[in-house]
Parts: sequence; structure tokens; C-alpha cells
Amino acid sequence: MTKPSSPPTVLVIGLGGTIAMTATTAECAAKPTLSADDLLVAVPQLAATGIVVTTQSFTAKPGASLTFDEIEDLAAQLRAMDSQGAFDGFVVTQGTDTLEETCYLLSLLYTGETPLIVTGAMRAPYLAGADGPANLLASVIVAASPQARGLGVLVVFSDQVFDAARVRKIHSTSTNAFASPDTGPLGTVAEGRLRLLAIPAHKPLPFSAATARPARVGVYLASLGDDGTLLAPLLEQADGMIIAGFGVGHVPATWVPILQEAAERIPVVLASRTGGGTTLTQAYGFDGSEKDLLDRGLIGAGHLDPYKARLLLTVLLRSGADCSAVLAAFAPAGTTPEGRG
Ligand code: ASP
Repeated sequence: MTKPSSPPTVLVIGLGGTIAMTATTAECAAKPTLSADDLLVAVPQLAATGIVVTTQSFTAKPGASLTFDEIEDLAAQLRAMDSQGAFDGFVVTQGTDTLEETCYLLSLLYTGETPLIVTGAMRAPYLAGADGPANLLASVIVAASPQARGLGVLVVFSDQVFDAARVRKIHSTSTNAFASPDTGPLGTVAEGRLRLLAIPAHKPLPFSAATARPARVGVYLASLGDDGTLLAPLLEQADGMIIAGFGVGHVPATWVPILQEAAERIPVVLASRTGGGTTLTQAYGFDGSEKDLLDRGLIGAGHLDPYKARLLLTVLLRSGADCSAVLAAFAPAGTTPEGRG
């Protein structure tokens, strides 16, 4: 393990998002325009930390338009810099709309020891109480912390530190937009220091192998009275599907034959649409219950939410995994017994 340098060095990589948005007076609507360098200018307090911060602008996009390929390119660059021991920490700034997904995708593709922090802002730099500078400062502090080494990808937001595998965006406008409903935060930043309270329960397997095969994986949400007629044609076009079921993993009984037929061809993963908790394995036995669906070949997502489950399945399929490899990967990722949910 490489020792942190003195003074510590952190690379801030800008991807766009509200943290980097400005608004023209004519339009009054925000678009990403600021570079990573511009973001640092708004945080004079960084000087007092003694951390040497360098920047790289990777792209300038709203979170909604980031692509899988871009995140994969970013992960490849980070892996290379990690193996050279180029920096003591990395911070990625981006739009919060997809932050809960990109951080998890990064955690699957980047498993270096160098801390990797993902952050953003809910209020653009020109608004009163803009939160970008505080989030960036806290993220740089965590990235440079020896305690963060080897913890995988972390999200730092509103002075809280979250595990990439468990964090959710839980509010559309509040500056406290992120939470980990199942575990709570791993730590906080107070008085300019990381205070680590817990460490992630599992570490994702490295997927640094080629993940170039095209894979179309959808998320389909169970909702009241849906008879499954829209779902069936989607399943025909998909290479894999995440079913965001009710509660612990339930769907209408009319979906059962459709899902069973699909699970014979492609991996179909059963997640919960609730936003917290896990899918179960054997508590309910009715048609369309979690037990029924797992018995018919679906794979339980456990504590992995539907969006993160989609990323895991996509990475697995892009790297050529078969159904048994998918099942084996979902068990530790969802913290479930043998991937059954
Ligand atoms: N509201 C978003 C943000 O917080 C916009 C985006 O994701 O780009 O950054």
C-alpha cells in the first residue's frame, strides 16, 4: 500500500452538473459551463487544508446525459492513476440526478486503494446558499484522508459520507438530498476532518476486464393494476431486466408466466421499488410472490436497489457473464443468501 504523500495530493475531475452550472440573464435557466478549475476558485478554504489540489475537466454535462461508456473511460483513467500512485485521492464532481448510479458503477469498475469521492450540488453556484463549495471542500478532505483508503467509492454530501452501494437520492431539491436508508452514513466531516463511524460491509468484485459487449438492461416498475401487456414486448428486446417489485419483491399474478418465460432466456432480477430494505426469499407463497418468482428462475437483488441492480447486471452482461455468474455476483452485492434475494 502506498503511503500518502506530504503534502497530500487530490485530483478533482469535473463532469458537469448543477455544481458547475451558470445561467444567462436572458434565459435564467442553468446549464453546465464551469470547469473544475472554476469550482476550486469558489473554495478559498482549500488553501488552509494544506492539500495540493489539481484539476481535470472530463466533460460538462447534466447528470441525465452521462453515459455508461463515459463512466467506463473515467474508471479506466482512475485505475491507471491509482496503479501509478499518482494522487492520494480523487474527487469526481457531477450532476446529482445520476450520482447514485455513477458512484455505484464506478465502484464496480474502479477498485483501487486511492479514495474516490463523488459529489455535486443541489444549488447552482449563483444561488443563495450554494452548497457546491462546501461539498467540494468536504470531499477533498475525505479524499486526502488515510482512513478513506481502501474503502471503495464514497459519496460525500452535506458533510456526510456514504457507501456508493447503499446511497440513494431521496429528495429532488433539498441540500440533504442523499441518504442510505438501510445503513445510514459511514461517517461525517466535522472541524475539517473525516470522522469515520463504519466501513462498508462488502467490497465489489473488480470488473476491470473488457466490458464492451452491448447489453440492453431495463428497469420495469410494478404498479397497481398493470396487467403486464407493456412488459412482455420490453422483455423480448432486452438482454436483461430488473423488475422493481412491490414490497419484498411481489408482482401481479398476471406477470408470472411472462416473467417465467423471460427468465428462461435472459437474467431477470427481482428488486424492491420501496427505496429501502431487502427483497425476501420465502416469506410469501402466492402467485407473483418473491418465493414464487425465485422458484421460477428470477434472481433476488436483496438490498441492491433497482437502479444499482441494473448497473451490476449491465456490467456483468457486458463482460460476458452467464446466468450462474450473475447469480453469484448478486449474492454479495445484495448481501443475500446465494442470490435468492
Ligand atoms: N439537478 C441536477 C444536479 O443536481 C442536475 C444534474 O444532475 O445535472 O446536478
